Amino acid sequence: MSLCVFDVSFSFEVRSKSERGSVVSEPRLNLSLTSISAQFGRVVVVSPHMDDAILSCGGLLSRLLPVIDCLTVTVCTADPAGVNSDHPPHGIALPSLRRNEEVRALRALGCPLMQLDLLDAIYRENTHTKSPLYPTMQSLWTMPVDADSVHRQELRNRLLPISKPVGDRPTLFVTPMGIGHHVDHILCTQVVLSIVSSTDHVLLYEDFPYVVDQGAHVGLADNAQNALRRLNVRGVECLTQECDLESKVSWISCYESQIDSIFGSAEHVRPMLMKNSMNGHTVERFWKIQKI
Ligand SMILES: [Zn+2]
Repeated sequence: MSLCVFDVSFSFEVRSKSERGSVVSEPRLNLSLTSISAQFGRVVVVSPHMDDAILSCGGLLSRLLPVIDCLTVTVCTADPAGVNSDHPPHGIALPSLRRNEEVRALRALGCPLMQLDLLDAIYRENTHTKSPLYPTMQSLWTMPVDADSVHRQELRNRLLPISKPVGDRPTLFVTPMGIGHHVDHILCTQVVLSIVSSTDHVLLYEDFPYVVDQGAHVGLADNAQNALRRLNVRGVECLTQECDLESKVSWISCYESQIDSIFGSAEHVRPMLMKNSMNGHTVERFWKIQKI
């Protein structure tokens, strides 16, 4: 089944060539919510961490929720064992705090949420040696290591039931490109691509904030083409979704523990969202892909 996501209902821009910057904009086409609801049984947004779905797909979800069942699946939500909550590793807020923030944000958006209770990369260990798989912040910006196979298999086991068709209609996965090179983002999409029967059942989302802030956290300078190559896929079309700035700001405000680390301060949320903009609106971008 092919994915057809255009009609004249909503504002979308399509770019037919895959290299951003050299792309020639074509007449704007529009997201076909009716096509998605007709072709797919539901939409599953895969969120590696407890903010990625809202940051990168909140606008898309707000358009889809009235017309099709949607589910946000957040992967790395488990509490690490034996951690002093007053001195968390790398100074990062613990999942126990962030889980509630995400529940509030997804409730404000109106999207059902499933938290998979798997460990973030910063807490994952080699099952034999018990040494950290990604011992430093810098080591998070890499490809998944072979010894991370336990997490990979567990994620696969958890996503497989969710990937089942609804009636005779497949599930559409919306999953990160991995722009910024975060190991959890890359691993999530590798697993999604390993379980879907066709890349027509996948849209990749450009990862915010990395797509507008190349130095976000300690991420690497990166772009969509690098991300596509890492996943061994080819970009077919890039879709640009306008979203309501104030709605997105209100959802993001639920992530109190993350505002400073992502945006610097609350005053910078709007300007940073507008770094990704078109026609005066903040936007989100999604890619249709094919396997190489
Ligand atoms: Zn993330």
